[in-house]
Amino acid sequence: MRVLLVGGGGREHALALGLAGDPAVEALVAAPGNPGIAGVAQLREVTPTDPAAVAALAVEVAADLVVIGPEAPLVAGVADAVRAKGIAVFGPSAEAARLEGSKTFAKDVMTAAAVPTARAYTCEDAAAVARALDEFGAPYVVKDDGLAAGKGVVVTDDRATAERHAAECGRVVIEEYLSGPEVSLFVVTDGEAAVPLLPAQDFKRVGDGDTGPNTGGMGAYAPLPWAPPNLVDDVMRDVVHPTLAELRRRGTPFAGLLYVGLAITPSGPRVIEFNARFGDPETQVVLALLETPLGGLLHAAATGTLGAHPPLRWRDGAAVTVVVAAEGYPAGPRTGDVITGADRAGIIHAGTRRDADGTLRSAGGRVLCGTATGPDLAAARDAAYELVRDVELAGAHHRTDIAAAAVDGRITIPG
Ligand code: AMP
Repeated sequence: MRVLLVGGGGREHALALGLAGDPAVEALVAAPGNPGIAGVAQLREVTPTDPAAVAALAVEVAADLVVIGPEAPLVAGVADAVRAKGIAVFGPSAEAARLEGSKTFAKDVMTAAAVPTARAYTCEDAAAVARALDEFGAPYVVKDDGLAAGKGVVVTDDRATAERHAAECGRVVIEEYLSGPEVSLFVVTDGEAAVPLLPAQDFKRVGDGDTGPNTGGMGAYAPLPWAPPNLVDDVMRDVVHPTLAELRRRGTPFAGLLYVGLAITPSGPRVIEFNARFGDPETQVVLALLETPLGGLLHAAATGTLGAHPPLRWRDGAAVTVVVAAEGYPAGPRTGDVITGADRAGIIHAGTRRDADGTLRSAGGRVLCGTATGPDLAAARDAAYELVRDVELAGAHHRTDIAAAAVDGRITIPG
């Protein structure tokens, strides 16, 4: 199987490692890729959000499967353009990707499918914003209606901050606050059959103890020792299958990766958001534990044959990833700084570039992450921090408490 992987972040580096490790994948091309991905794939230039350019590249490299990593190409219709060339693609149509691209659309689908989620209003002016904030009370949850790379959400006790964010975004979704630990569940689906991966937890806030602004994600771990034993079965039954059925009913089946972001509240799991692609950095830990060959799994989802795919096999133990971010991230990351100590197994490249002379430099807010497995969560965590300790990048910062609460048994479900 010849595979074209679209994207160039940490998630795509993790996907590239998984695909390259599948004996059925005889050639792996990544576009645009990154210096980490270059170790396991041939890199090609492309604008990932240009449907015609990606489709032409897929034809040129004779891809049997195109795997689309990020959300922006999906929302732009890249999967549709590749499918129109008769090439199998892992990633939903632009219509189905609205599950991520529009929070209002996602809420509509959830309401129609009776999926448990926060009550919400879409607001377009200050009066509607004020009414919604009054109704739900603090803490206030205000979300930009469009794609915002995980950074369009403000959760705050401060009314003025909530109102300011709403005014800045224009159209917003204001919703009820959900309390309880968060879970990311990835589901591989061909639109009908659906296979859950291991649940993971990520860390959205920039600072230790979940302080500071939201980010794209500062670290992750899997599996979740504290999760209720029937969590995945319940979410498949109450969330995933009803959502997939509703999208089929609308004539826009969702095939690809359905990311279910959940809060485990006192009244059970509630959906915080859907995404239409693998999450970053949870992918790094989930795929580190997946033993089943990745290319075959994604190909089955892309060709409507997932129902016949054998059950997934997982490695024992746990995985942890710790993100190293650039100075100033998330507000205004500084790029162009020299990085040393990063060319090692376990270092996943997210925002890096390489000069002609081989020097590695930062090229994004989240620069790289240290990903490690271990016989248990504590061992995996220690190994991930060891990887990060050896990386040198001026002004860089990372959280020091990734997986700490889970290791110490401090995560409880309120109620
Ligand atoms: P989202 O982009 O929708 O995933 O939101 C980013 C983060 O904001 C989530 O991971 C949560 O930590 C937080 N968040 C979003 N919606 C809610 C909610 N209704 N209640 C509590 N926290 C929320």
